[in-house]
This record gives sequence, C-alpha cells and structure tokens, in this order.
Amino acid sequence: MKSGKRIGIMGGTFNPIHNGHLLLAAKAQEQVLLERILFMPSGNSYMKKNVLETQKRVEMVALAIERYPDFELSLIEAQKSGNTYTYETLACLKAANPDTQYYFIIGADILFQIEQWRNPGQIFQMAVLVCAVRDDYDFDAIRKKGNILAASGADIIYLNMPKLDISSTDIRAKVKSGLTISELVPPEVAHYIEQEHLYYEED
Ligand code: NAP
Repeated sequence: MKSGKRIGIMGGTFNPIHNGHLLLAAKAQEQVLLERILFMPSGNSYMKKNVLETQKRVEMVALAIERYPDFELSLIEAQKSGNTYTYETLACLKAANPDTQYYFIIGADILFQIEQWRNPGQIFQMAVLVCAVRDDYDFDAIRKKGNILAASGADIIYLNMPKLDISSTDIRAKVKSGLTISELVPPEVAHYIEQEHLYYEED
C-alpha cells in the first residue's frame, strides 16, 4: 500500500451528476480505502459539445454530495479558464500536496480513451487509476487494454461494481421528453433541474 494520504478524484462533466457517479465514488472509497473523494466538475470539456454552463453543473454536484461527509467539492477545474486537462490538474494537486497519493476514479470506457488525452504518461506518474468494471463489461478486453497502459507506466486498480444503467445523456433525454428522473439522480438534483428548467430544450 502506498504511503501518505489517500485521496480519490472523481472527475466528470457531470451534465448532470447522477446515482452512477455517486455509486462509483462510494465503491472506490470502500474498496481502495480512500480517506476522501474530491468531486471535480470539469470546466471547459473541450471533447464535448453543448455542455451546460459550469456554475449549474457545479451547483448540482454540491447538492448531490452534501449528505456524504467524505465527499468534497473541488473547483480546481471549474475555475480554470481554457480547456481542462487532467495532467495539469494532477500537477497542481501534487505541487500543493506532494505526499498525497491520488487515485483517479474512472469508468472502464476511459481506459480506451486516455491515450488520446494530453500527456497520459504524466497522468500515470501522478495518480493510480481506479477503474470500474461494471457487471456487463468484457473484463478480458479491459484487462488487455489495462496491460497495454501498464506497459506505459499506468498503475491500475480494478473495482467491482454492479451495473447501474444510468447515463447523463439518457437523463437529459428523459427530461426533454417529460419523463421522471427521480430514480436516476438524488432528489435535490431532480428538484434543481426542474426549478432551473434545465435540459428541456436539449438538441
Ligand atoms: P462524465 O461523463 O461526467 O463521467 C464521469 C465518470 O463517471 C466517467 O469515468 C464515467 O465512466 C463514469 N460513469 C458514468 N456513468 C456511470 C455509471 N452509470 N456507473 C458507473 N460509472 C459511470 O465525465 P467525462 O466527461 O467522461 O470526464 C471524466 C474525467 O475525465 C474528467 O475529470 C475529465 O476532466 C477527464 N478528461 C480529461 C481529458 C484530458 O485530460 N484531455 C479529456 C477528457 C476527459 P464511463 O465513461 O465508463 O461511463
């Protein structure tokens, strides 16, 4: 086990945050023994189009995590101007807290994308990847990809978790169609979406 503080980073566009994100963070905390999890809404997600304004995504994250004492809102990326790059965020955190071991929590899909991100090698040096393997995933394919990344320096912990069939895309579509999202997001988030009239006119 690595020495120093053990802090998880749950980064996301969170457009909007949902129960799948919360379950992923909770499973990571429990299985990897993390002291705290930083929920870090992205600022300008340059790989995604038509993303809701940052302040509203941040407010939904704050509402979603308020009942979890070990979950904390981090505004590092939300307050940054320009594009958000994970390697820059980690460099900033490591410079401020050199003895902390960071654990970057991801869904398995990201294992297949991370090599296209800016400076993946630096990400691998600065954080352990905690990768969710949902029940329905092809674990052999994930392991194979993980081994390729490990050869480039990635340290990967695989996390068992049940499949929760929830995505932000589906939530936005449901809101637009007037369907309920009460099973998919915390009640405070559902209320905020309704009150702010978010996603009703999504393309
Ligand atoms: P997102 O869509 O909000 O998702 C956040 C995380 O939650 C992802 O790892 C996603 O994994 C997982 N997730 C979503 N639904 C889930 C469910 N039902 N059950 C369990 N897990 C679920 O955020 P994102 O846009 O992918 O961004 C994730 C992080 O990557 C952010 O910190 C972002 O800044 C970073 N990023 C960095 C770069 C770069 O440095 N160049 C580029 C892109 C993203 P799945 O994708 O497997 O669903």
